[in-house]
Amino acid sequence: MPPSLDDSDTLAFLKIKVSARGANRIKDGHVWVYRSDVTATDGVAPGSVVRVMDDRGKSLGTAFYSSASQIAIRLISREAVKDLHGLLRERIRSAIAYRERIVRNTDAYRVVFSEADFLPGLIVDRYNDLLSFQVLTQATDSEAVRVTVLSELTEQLHPAAIGERVEPKIRELEQLPQRCSGLVQGEKTSTIFSMNGLRFHYDVNAGQKTGAFLDQRENYAAAARYAQGEALDVFCYHGGFALHLAQAGCKVTGMDSSRPALEVADRNAALNGREIEWIEGNAFDVLRDYAKSGQRYDTIVLDPPAFAKSKRDLDTALRGYKELNLRALKMLRPGGILVTCSCSYHVSTAEFLGVVADAARDAHRDLRILDSRTQAKDHPILANVPETGYLKCMIMHVSN
Ligand code: SAH
Repeated sequence: MPPSLDDSDTLAFLKIKVSARGANRIKDGHVWVYRSDVTATDGVAPGSVVRVMDDRGKSLGTAFYSSASQIAIRLISREAVKDLHGLLRERIRSAIAYRERIVRNTDAYRVVFSEADFLPGLIVDRYNDLLSFQVLTQATDSEAVRVTVLSELTEQLHPAAIGERVEPKIRELEQLPQRCSGLVQGEKTSTIFSMNGLRFHYDVNAGQKTGAFLDQRENYAAAARYAQGEALDVFCYHGGFALHLAQAGCKVTGMDSSRPALEVADRNAALNGREIEWIEGNAFDVLRDYAKSGQRYDTIVLDPPAFAKSKRDLDTALRGYKELNLRALKMLRPGGILVTCSCSYHVSTAEFLGVVADAARDAHRDLRILDSRTQAKDHPILANVPETGYLKCMIMHVSN
C-alpha cells in the first residue's frame, strides 16, 4: 500500500525523480517542477509527500505531489523532512510572525499565502475573529494536513470560527471530489473587520474570493492620499476603494455588475456614516454611456476582475484593459487621478503599463506615474517564484 499522510510522522517518504531541467529549476530557487520534468513516480499516490531526487539520486528536498496538475511537484522544504506535521506547524507560526511585523492598521489580512509562505496549496485569511481558508491541491486537501493546519491556526489565533471557501473549478482540475463551502469549526458566520480606520462587514457564506480583496489594502490608503473631487470607483465590489476615497473627502460613485456586492457596499457605507451612490451595471456599457454624455470626474479607480485567466487570453485581456483605461482617461478632468489595476498574473507590469500608455496616447492625455504598486505585503512575492506576484496598481496623474 502506498504510504498516506496519516503515518507521515515516522515515514521515509517515497522518492520521485526529476530531470536535469526540473532539478535546475529547484536549484535556481523555484519551488515547482512541471509534470514533463518528472521522470519516475513509482507507487506515489495522489497528494503524497515525496522526497525529490535528481537523476543521480541526490536529494533536492521534500514536496507535495499532485497526480493531476501540470505542476506535479511543489516544494515544501529544501531539506529531507521527517516530521511533516511539525514542519506545517512551524510554517504557520512563522507566517503569523511575519504578519505581526509587517501588517498595520487592520485586523483583516492574509495569514498564509501558499508558496510565498512555503505552504503551497493553502490560503488562509483573517477577518477580525473569523478565519477563512482555501485548499488548492491534493496534498493540502488531505484530512491529516487539514487537521494539523486548523489546530495550529486555532492555537495561535483563537478564532471564533473557521470557514472553508471552495473553488469548484480548482477541485475539478486537481481531481478532488467536490465539497461545500461553509463553517468547519465554530458557529459564528459574520463579523465586522477594520482597516485604515474604516469598518467592513464580512460573511463566511457570502462574497467572492475569500470574502474581500485584502490584497488592495495598502493601495486603498495610497489611492486616498492622491484622490480628490468627484470620484468613480469602477468594479467597486464591497466598496473598498469607494469608502477610502469618501474618507479622503471625495464625492463618490461606485459601480459594479453584482447586486449582492453592491448591497454589502451600501451596508458598509452606512456602517461608516458615508453617503455613496451605487450603480449596478456592466462597466464597459456604463463607461461608454457616461463618456458620451459628457460626465467628468476628478478621480477614477479601475479594478476589474482578472481578464487573463491563462496565457491564451492575453490579447483579449490587453484589449479589455485598453478599452477601460481609454474610456476612463476621456472622462478625467485635467489634473485628475487615475488608479488603474490588473490582477492578471499573465499580464506583466510592463505590458500593463504599455496598454495604459497606449490608451493615454489615443485619448491625447499626458500621464505621470505617481506610484507603481503591487499587492499588500501580507501577500508576499517570492523573488525566485515570480508566479507569487500578480497585482498591479498604478496611480497616475493626468496633466492636461
Ligand atoms: N475593487 C474591489 C474588487 C473588485 S473585484 C475591491 O477593492 O474590493 C472585481 C469586481 O468586478 C467584482 O465585484 C465583480 O462583481 C465586478 N465585475 C465583473 N465584471 C464586471 C463588469 N463587466 N462590469 C462591472 N462589474 C463587473
